[in-house]
Amino acid sequence: MESLKIYTDNLIDKEIIKSKRIAVIGFGSQGYGQGMNLVDSGCNVVFGVRLGGKSDVKAKDYGLKTASIEDAVKWSDIVQILIPDEIQAKVYKEQIEPYMKKGQYLMFSHGFNIHYGFIKPIDGVNVIMVAPKAPGHTVRSEYLAGKGVPSLIAVEKDFSGDSKQIALSYASAIGSGRAGVIETTFREETETDLFGEQAVLCGGCDYLIKTAFETLVEAGYSPYMAYFEVCHELKLIVDLIDEGGIEDMHYSVSNNAEYGDYTRGCQIINSETKLRMKNILSQIQDGSYAKEFMNEFSSGSENFKKLRKESEKHLIEKVGSEIRRLFKWGKSKLIDKTKN
Ligand code: NAP
Ligand code: MG
Repeated sequence: MESLKIYTDNLIDKEIIKSKRIAVIGFGSQGYGQGMNLVDSGCNVVFGVRLGGKSDVKAKDYGLKTASIEDAVKWSDIVQILIPDEIQAKVYKEQIEPYMKKGQYLMFSHGFNIHYGFIKPIDGVNVIMVAPKAPGHTVRSEYLAGKGVPSLIAVEKDFSGDSKQIALSYASAIGSGRAGVIETTFREETETDLFGEQAVLCGGCDYLIKTAFETLVEAGYSPYMAYFEVCHELKLIVDLIDEGGIEDMHYSVSNNAEYGDYTRGCQIINSETKLRMKNILSQIQDGSYAKEFMNEFSSGSENFKKLRKESEKHLIEKVGSEIRRLFKWGKSKLIDKTKN
């Protein structure tokens, strides 16, 4: 295993990014998080949005400069695309590409559209990535707390010779130099990111929680107890793992819980699960997942909407929102849908 090179602020030229004009396309989760941090770090930013749309209103409420996507691109040196992956290719073709110039930097926070070829940048444009490893609202809250979230950077095309310095400087301006920046490639970021969210972070967790919840409820236990045991406590366990690894989690839980982990966890997640994980990974690697995802959204996303509705109707959501209301009152929230 190669040792890991981590870039922190002391190794990064923090100034170069301040001399560039940055068009942040979109003011959603990442547009808000990255964009507000850039502005607070002294960068020259214009938000390319649908004028009069929700994002335009939200950004203006923060006193930020907005423009149409076309005008923001024309004005800029760097175009950071922070709109949903499934619409990037269309917006790029119609509203960005016609205004791109040689020597500009086209930036992404996920390699999806470049890696699978849905976006094919024009010749002479630098193609780079700065991908914070956190939701946009956390990118913002950590920055405000004087900290930062780690970011990945990658350079796909470097015509100007300084693309990596630009990516590092941008990463620093969004706060990631305080935490650590790691270099990767578009391919590696895209494939591992998709796999991580499918197998563990979103897909794996979601179905592990819901299946365990259903098991307890179907066996006659109270849904409230079930929620506490298989969902509420998960965060506490993950906090321990985050701080000191699985070993520290084992140190903190009872011997009973640790014994149950070794002897029962492996009955739930086993070599068959690994085979299914390998299958999911190969669908990511051969591009069939990406194709399916793009087809779903270009054909009206009926299936996606149906699945979302079914998930929202699950008993755990009703029970969970009741319990969270009782126990987490007064706690300030990262997400306020009217503002960010
Ligand atoms: P998002 O919140 O879903 O993006 C919403 C923004 O996109 C809004 O400003 C919205 O404008 C705009 N938008 C939607 N459709 C549009 C259209 N047809 N034309 C113009 N603007 C449109 O996106 P995101 O989750 O931040 O993701 C952005 C990128 O960051 C993606 O590549 C994603 O993979 C990557 N990323 C995301 C996260 C994350 O935590 N979310 C983490 C790491 C990387 P309106 O208000 O006008 O609708
Ligand atoms: Mg991810």
